[in-house]
Amino acid sequence: MEDDPIVGNVSQSTCGPPGQLCFDANFECGNLGRVDVVSNNEYDLFIRPDTCNPKYRRVIFNILNFSKLRTLFDTGNAAPVYRVASQENWCRIPVKNIYYYSSKAHGDRFILSFIHVFPTTEKVYFAYCIPYSYSKLQDFLLSIERKNFSYFKRTPLTNTVQRRRVELLTITNFNNLRDQQRIVFITARVHPGETPSSFVMHGFIDFLVSNDPRAEALRDTYVFKIVPMLNPDGVYLGNYRCSLMGFDLNRQWQDPSSWGTPTIFATKNLLVQYNNNPHIEIVMHIDLHAHSNRTNFFLYGNLPSSKDSKQCEQQLIIPYILAEITDDYSLLATQFNTDAEKAGTSRRAMGALLDVNTHCYTLEVSFFSYKPKDDVAAKSVPYLAENCKLGLTKSSIIVIPYLQMNYLARMWPFPSYSIARSSMATEWWT
Ligand SMILES: [Zn+2]
Repeated sequence: MEDDPIVGNVSQSTCGPPGQLCFDANFECGNLGRVDVVSNNEYDLFIRPDTCNPKYRRVIFNILNFSKLRTLFDTGNAAPVYRVASQENWCRIPVKNIYYYSSKAHGDRFILSFIHVFPTTEKVYFAYCIPYSYSKLQDFLLSIERKNFSYFKRTPLTNTVQRRRVELLTITNFNNLRDQQRIVFITARVHPGETPSSFVMHGFIDFLVSNDPRAEALRDTYVFKIVPMLNPDGVYLGNYRCSLMGFDLNRQWQDPSSWGTPTIFATKNLLVQYNNNPHIEIVMHIDLHAHSNRTNFFLYGNLPSSKDSKQCEQQLIIPYILAEITDDYSLLATQFNTDAEKAGTSRRAMGALLDVNTHCYTLEVSFFSYKPKDDVAAKSVPYLAENCKLGLTKSSIIVIPYLQMNYLARMWPFPSYSIARSSMATEWWT
């Protein structure tokens, strides 16, 4: 009886080469199910689940190939997400169950470890951030299209290298197209791993096609041109940063190619075409991203090439309005720069190419959480799709063009702006 194998336990017959420890749990009361060799001096051990009942398993997962040295994981402001297959909502792993550390045994690489308890045998999905797939976007746009709104149009802008359709949406009161057009041009998901930017975009589109009077006013005033996913191939393939062909598409805006970076090529051509049309004014271009090292949401802007103080201060209007009307905008993280490293980004390249009065921004939203009212000492609030925290972020960008063009532009010079800001911005939004 003593020599009978016990199903699922490691035994001496599975020992590795000389120099490594040999594990054996093939005896009465043994329950070691698996051993992974980290080095001759370190071993990962896995306790075997109970026979015929794998419930209540407490499992440690180690993600070994993180490329970033500094992340929000080591400050307690970040957590991966999981979803039980039968439930719709994604949850965040509790921060107390997450460890982020440099491991000597893994060549001093940084490792993210987290513990999860499986209360049932049901399938569970894990992710770095809440997924937003190409198919989800297609389903969403189809659902709007089926409502036959007179103010919504969906057309193909171009195809990707793998022949996926790149969407161009137009949302406006189409009477606007007869006159001088004021375009707000918004893009997202050039970096495929940055799914929070898609949630921001989703909420933005959702609001803009709604019957909210503010959305109606915006449709009456502006022509919204939206490219909701600039890198469908990268999204489909599960890439984090690049396109199918390995390009970081947000470094290609100065010289995109029709064969290698067709989505950037087509989007840039469209912007240039609008810019050269005397009947069109591009009021604003915003590119949506997600940030892994910061909390809250915030903007990157350009420094005007001229020393015109009015132009410089106009760049500041939007950040200040956002800080006023939302809990989660960070003025502390807002930056205006001319870094050479960012020259190929949408914000920098289009900022240099388009009319001097077009405001070009990158909007960054944290992958994980925000600290209310920019209070660095505050406990962070996780961003989750279902608790509408992203909803706040999403919708807030909608007020920008409306307020800027309809109220604030009339209030120059700025002393009156700062007085009017709080009352008008808040009044319109609440
Ligand atoms: Zn990005």
